[in-house]
Amino acid sequence: MHRKTRLTVAALAGAALVGGSAIALAPAATAIPVNSHCGTESAGPRAGFVSHDQLTKELQKIESTSKGRVDVEVAGYSNEGREIYQARVGTGDTVMMVQSQIHGNENHGTEALLSLLKELGGSSAAAAEIRENITIVAIPRLNADGGEHDTRQNAMSWDDVVADFPQLAGVDPAWNYNSRVPGFDVNRDFNPDLDYVPQPEDFPGNSADTGWFITPEAQTARDVYANIEDEFGIVDYFVDLHNQWPCYQQAGTDNMSPLSISGRFIADPAAFGDWPNFDYDASRQANVAVYDALQDNGASGFGHVTLYPQSINLPGTALGSFALRGSATVLFETSSNTQSDGQKRNGFLTKQVEIGLKGLITAIADGSIDAIDPEDYEQIPERITLPAD
Ligand SMILES: [Zn+2]
Repeated sequence: MHRKTRLTVAALAGAALVGGSAIALAPAATAIPVNSHCGTESAGPRAGFVSHDQLTKELQKIESTSKGRVDVEVAGYSNEGREIYQARVGTGDTVMMVQSQIHGNENHGTEALLSLLKELGGSSAAAAEIRENITIVAIPRLNADGGEHDTRQNAMSWDDVVADFPQLAGVDPAWNYNSRVPGFDVNRDFNPDLDYVPQPEDFPGNSADTGWFITPEAQTARDVYANIEDEFGIVDYFVDLHNQWPCYQQAGTDNMSPLSISGRFIADPAAFGDWPNFDYDASRQANVAVYDALQDNGASGFGHVTLYPQSINLPGTALGSFALRGSATVLFETSSNTQSDGQKRNGFLTKQVEIGLKGLITAIADGSIDAIDPEDYEQIPERITLPAD
């Protein structure tokens, strides 16, 4: 199935974006006018995105061609037994954890991470300088099962959970469980207390409360995070790469917005105990660094970034829980779940994540992030919902 009309002109990204590398950003106007068709029909399966086997091979290739500058390990296993990988590059004292695809049908972040790992593991002087100043620990495709099944949730029944945590026998399943899949929204399974053990009285819970680490995928992210914390004292930055539906406008312009970002996930941090390292200003600076990196690309359309709604309260998200522990946090919400895009559009969206993330990494590595005024965050245009036509 295809769109009635392409999101905009076929020249959207131009031939230059196919393949996602060696991009000469074409001066062609790639901004998407707000009166474009904005549908959410499925365009068929995952054109061009790596399967689990391909992800495995890609990471092995990156490790070997980087001559070990990128170190790839199995960090854990999904509920169905697939490897969850972590890839580490750099030796700097400042550390960033970045993960993609906690929602299995949100692929662009994974593609962007593969491309960026390749680049940062390369032999250029620029890559070497970045490696010297920052350590990056990436988890491409945390939700390996959801990635394979093209579902938001992981692949896990409540019975599986009770088998792992017998103390939960007889309680109502967690609120974020979808029995039809069956599986959990893994991004509600986090807790700022990394030692938290699931307690029957904490179920079924709700979106305004913390999660439980009942899924192997959240447990893996927690373990990676805890290991970094043990080694560095604090995880300075945590970035989570997502997708949202495609029909948003950038406030104050006539453009559709292909990316929303945010550093705000909790209404009242004090409501969840004493977290002295919580640093909202550091999160705001990090988001501004992403925003700025995407402004300087001509008429590419990359600049039409918006601020994700700031009124949310989701302490059970990875971002919410890790923000409480003191990480500066950045949410990427790239336009579209993967069902609805063609290859060219996917190349554009992947490149957008790459540019934004690399801009943040560079600003951290060269120290320029410290000069960013956190208040600039409030100037990022709002996200306006458009009707799907
Ligand atoms: Zn998501």
